[in-house]
Amino acid sequence: MNILILNSGSSSLKFQLINTSVERIERNTDARLAHGVIERIGGMAIITMQAEGKPPVRLTEPIRDARAAVEYVIRWICSDNAEIETVKSVADIHAAGHRVVHGGEKFTRSVLITEEVLRGIEDCIELAPLHNPANIKGIVAAREVFGKGLPQVAVFDTAFHQTLPEHAYLYALPYQLYRRHRIRRYGFHGTSHRYVAYRYRQIRKLRREQVNIITLHLGNGCSAAALRGGDSVDTSMGLTPLEGLVMGTRSGDFDPAIIDFLSAKEGLSAQEVESLVNKQSGLLGISGLTNDMRELLDEARENGDRRANLAIEIFCYRVRKYIGSYLAAMNGADAIVFTGGIGENSAEIREKICGGLSWLGVELDAESNLRQTGGREGVISTDDSRLAAYVIPTNEELLIARDTVRVVEHVPQRF
Ligand code: ADP
Repeated sequence: MNILILNSGSSSLKFQLINTSVERIERNTDARLAHGVIERIGGMAIITMQAEGKPPVRLTEPIRDARAAVEYVIRWICSDNAEIETVKSVADIHAAGHRVVHGGEKFTRSVLITEEVLRGIEDCIELAPLHNPANIKGIVAAREVFGKGLPQVAVFDTAFHQTLPEHAYLYALPYQLYRRHRIRRYGFHGTSHRYVAYRYRQIRKLRREQVNIITLHLGNGCSAAALRGGDSVDTSMGLTPLEGLVMGTRSGDFDPAIIDFLSAKEGLSAQEVESLVNKQSGLLGISGLTNDMRELLDEARENGDRRANLAIEIFCYRVRKYIGSYLAAMNGADAIVFTGGIGENSAEIREKICGGLSWLGVELDAESNLRQTGGREGVISTDDSRLAAYVIPTNEELLIARDTVRVVEHVPQRF
């Protein structure tokens, strides 16, 4: 089946076209046919698209809204320009899979999108006011363009973490606030944590129940997850993606009393404080330079910039603290797994994180650690390391494509 994966943001649309099937999933032979992104929707949009094995196409064109963006993508995929051999008309696209950020407590797995599901996603808007409306726009646009006959599947960032036990997802706030407003830890990046856990299971040839690991998604957004018996039992992001690790521009954990203190001292509104902790903090806030880890590492290496070094140090220290606390929470693990742009590519950051974990039994193999970059998958710890360490590049789009097939074909959703 040719599956169109859509990730619809507030002013962007990312897409991938993936050929997969139940047999292909089993044999791990899914094939990406094309991918791309349309940015600055609503004005002069910047469009980047590429069919596999062909040169990328880059152009600017006015694109009015989400529907126009979806139409544009489909028209290009089916056109002779794209040169995708197996796709010549809309009938060659067999299903669509949508990334949806928040599924609340309602969605614990990927589902076929019906009117009721759409209402359910709308109900979760109050939990993700920036993301869910954009995701819904993408779904509605695809329905309009494809018609109701095409199966469409929603895959939620939160779903994988719905196995968290009560003691891990409840905050120590008055319980009625949870009842009244559903305030609790939901966690995000679920598709990524689930994908790398699945690859880990394949590499180690384990059954799902034997997977006891800590997964670290370190990208622009960062989160850690504790997986026990294959289930997510704790994760660092909370009601929103702000909590937990230090990120590109998000602070991660901090004393919530700072919010009031800040607004009094700096005369900021609640909205301004929210923007400050989400968009001007993290690596960017500490360094005063950039939210981009690669640039920070260069700056630290080439100019010895003190605050670049400090940002890197605080980032790694926070990750170490989470690894330690999850090992306690889950009574030990077999491995830690690095993924996301930073986790997959930076041997230096992995070394800084694991360097402080020798008491816990993590011994990195310097050579393997250096080798495991740019999409390579493998172990980076020594043979006798008590706690193993792996690098496993994530592929959220592939998991969305696979779940779409599983939902359409009524086969169980495995991780
Ligand atoms: P997103 O969360 O937006 O998907 P990515 O997972 O691509 O982002 O991660 C982006 C981060 O990965 C950036 O901070 C970038 O600097 C970092 N990164 C990418 N390659 C490297 C590298 N070779 N060394 C260090 N950091 C890297």
